[in-house]
Amino acid sequence: MAIIITDECINCGACEPECPNTAIYEGADDWRYKDGTSLNGTVVLTNGEEVDADEAQEPVSDEIYYIVPDKCTECKGFHDEPQCAAVCPVDCCVPDEDVVETEDELLAKQRFMHPDG
Ligand code: SF4
Ligand code: SF4
Repeated sequence: MAIIITDECINCGACEPECPNTAIYEGADDWRYKDGTSLNGTVVLTNGEEVDADEAQEPVSDEIYYIVPDKCTECKGFHDEPQCAAVCPVDCCVPDEDVVETEDELLAKQRFMHPDG
């Protein structure tokens, strides 16, 4: 499953540079599929949805740092544990029970975003 940031977040910013998928953004910032990945132009996501990787997407939160579920792989393919959760001083990066994915699905997402390794 993806990791989610709860409203306990104190906006310290420690997690953002640790994410290997650039899935973490500051509140109110736009996000893009292409940020920190090999994606660009029109791409078909692993869930079949077609998106423009270059297009700015609406922030998930206007107030606190947030994680884009489509870009979070729980750090699979890069690290043994979620790096955001490892550095968060208030332990507010937690599994999102509403976005459940298998390890194979997470690894497929990681390879999709980083086909060159
Ligand atoms: S678990 Fe890993 S991939 Fe997901 S948001 Fe945290 S640092 Fe990024
Ligand atoms: S490390 Fe934790 S408290 Fe700091 S910005 Fe990230 S989620 Fe918020």
